[in-house]
Amino acid sequence: MTRCENVWVAAEDASDYAALVAVARDLGARVSAVWMGDEQGLDAVSTSGAGAVIHLEGGVLIEDGAPVLAQLAAERTPDALIVAPTKRMRLVGACVAARMRACVISDATSLDVDEEGALRAERMVYGGGAVTVERAVGAFVVAVPCAALLASKAAERADASGAAGADAPCAVETFAVQPGSSGITLVERRAREVDAVNLSAARNIVSVGRGFAAEEDLALAYGLARAVDAEVGCTRPVAEGSKWMARERYIGVSGAMLTPNLFIAVGVSGQVQHMVGATGAKVVVAINKDKGAPVFKQADFGIVGDLYDVVPRLVAELER
Ligand SMILES: Cc1cc2nc3c(=O)[nH]c(=O)nc-3n(C[C@H](O)[C@H](O)[C@H](O)COP(=O)(O)OP(=O)(O)OC[C@H]3O[C@@H](n4cnc5c(N)ncnc54)[C@H](O)[C@@H]3O)c2cc1C
Repeated sequence: MTRCENVWVAAEDASDYAALVAVARDLGARVSAVWMGDEQGLDAVSTSGAGAVIHLEGGVLIEDGAPVLAQLAAERTPDALIVAPTKRMRLVGACVAARMRACVISDATSLDVDEEGALRAERMVYGGGAVTVERAVGAFVVAVPCAALLASKAAERADASGAAGADAPCAVETFAVQPGSSGITLVERRAREVDAVNLSAARNIVSVGRGFAAEEDLALAYGLARAVDAEVGCTRPVAEGSKWMARERYIGVSGAMLTPNLFIAVGVSGQVQHMVGATGAKVVVAINKDKGAPVFKQADFGIVGDLYDVVPRLVAELER
């Protein structure tokens, strides 16, 4: 008998539940979905495949649900809480773990149950240079899967459910949340300007590195992306140093982790912190003027040359 028989999942966004439920079901668990959002989202959560929904209603902020969630977890003793890897859900998960004196497993690339029934996770460390296997101790665990694990589960669920559509609605239990109980006061709501790109959903990616000398030269990368039907991503310095692209576009250990069919790295040196984001790519192509650049060790196809010369020629060939 495993210890992971009863698992709760929680997210900010109703659309994350199908993947979270799939992760929990893979552990062989009975799954309950904890929802801290509005009635509209509740419908989607109750048809996400969970066996039951625990609706925490009345909080101003998602974080307000954490004390009630911890109280319920203490009373009902689930084996684990799996939360979506967003900043606010990590905070909720950490609050619950602190109150329950539970261990936390974060950014798991895989989750399973070992022969003794304990939750076991793999996680990348040293910027993706190594993988650790962690085994949870104690009667209750808070786990945070990495975004790539959720994306692959979402794709599996979409393939499997196909024409069958959403699951039938399950039972919903509602509990009242005291607004402000998290101790955080909402002062103002302001829309954040974000780049709406979803690199994880892209079939092909062109990744831009510091080999580009000027921001206007990125037009070359966008031209190549159009020719191969790709989204454009970048290395961290291009987003956070030069600020030529939004933070949402950088790939790697601290950015997006991707599983595209084709990944073309242009003017990218190939440091592990970046390339780890492309380890799930089926085919990697590198364009770099330095034949000793580490990116070539990870590429299936490499072109040694100046990107200002190679990219326009490549685009012309592709468009022919
Ligand atoms: C804790 C930590 C976390 C990090 N997380 C991330 C992360 O998530 N994502 C990430 O991307 N980075 C991350 N980094 C940074 C990472 O280590 C590298 O510094 C970064 O990825 C390098 O970016 P780059 O390849 O664009 O630049 P560079 O390393 O400067 O490489 C530029 C390349 O362009 C080539 N080049 C130059 N001119 C041309 C030309 N005209 N034509 C063709 N090629 C040309 C050069 O030969 C060179 O190989 C992290 C670092 C740390 C310490």
